Amino acid sequence: MPGTEPLDLQSIVDDIHHELAPRLGEGKVADYIPQLARVDPTRFGMAVVTVDGSVYRAGDAEIPFSIQSISKVFTLTLALGKHGENIWKRVGREPSGSAFNSIVQLEQEHGIPRNPFINAGAIAITDLVLAGHTPREAIGEIVRFVRYLADDEDILIDHEVARSEAATGYRNFALANFMRSFGKLDHPVEHVLGVYFHQCALAMSCVQLAKAGLFLAASGSNPLTQHSVVSRQRARRINALMLTCGHYDGSGDFAYRVGLPGKSGVGGGILVAAPGKASVAVWSPGLNHNGNSLLGSLALEMLASRTGWSVFGG
Ligand code: GLU
Repeated sequence: MPGTEPLDLQSIVDDIHHELAPRLGEGKVADYIPQLARVDPTRFGMAVVTVDGSVYRAGDAEIPFSIQSISKVFTLTLALGKHGENIWKRVGREPSGSAFNSIVQLEQEHGIPRNPFINAGAIAITDLVLAGHTPREAIGEIVRFVRYLADDEDILIDHEVARSEAATGYRNFALANFMRSFGKLDHPVEHVLGVYFHQCALAMSCVQLAKAGLFLAASGSNPLTQHSVVSRQRARRINALMLTCGHYDGSGDFAYRVGLPGKSGVGGGILVAAPGKASVAVWSPGLNHNGNSLLGSLALEMLASRTGWSVFGG
């Protein structure tokens, strides 16, 4: 039980890493593209960046990995900045209860995806980010935004991952074509998916990711850079979406076990905001049956219980 004394966050992250060490390699690494399939399944990284700017690391916290769907948080933030609340004409705000790449719901709901964090919803958001841009410019805008958030010019896209995603992304093409057929995408499918595959191919370390997400834990501003990213209200709303929709159809379970807004990706990363406290990123490539990092979720469950940071009360 967390007490009233100051938290020793370095000991907490070290202990979590140590306790999970015997289990590294558990879960199933995503294998739909070779670049993800060949990632060492025993990798484990964790980074905690507190709102007062302290950074705590464990394991492979400095090694970049494919952030995949975690990028959806950054493009949602960009789209909200460009279009404001108008984005909700294109995408809903409800948990989907279906697999991340489900097409059935999209047909039933006439091309309006349930939320911005399932694939269809993220593709609709990427379409909005493309407004007024060529695909190349939109990709540049996304990379610049993430570098600005993390205050780190070294963040790159893994172009090999982007190429593989495009070569195998049949279902994403199906989702995008479906939305286009309902008149819910403004740009050609190839352009939208070109940008989408590149955003998913961003490679970032846990430390970079935790820094990039810090504005969500700190009421919309990044205390490390003093950059004001979004309003307090917008940060709160993005957190609400992450809590309810950030883990595909495992979102309820993640809220139950961890109790923090988070977004996972099939590369095995999870970005979490503990409002008023810290931004946390974890990476362990083995996934559970919902496509969320198995040990990453467990590490965050341990962190939440040891810090008392759950938004539902310590
Ligand atoms: N690039 C992946 C896809 O669109 C992302 C999946 C994910 O991380 O959820 O299939």
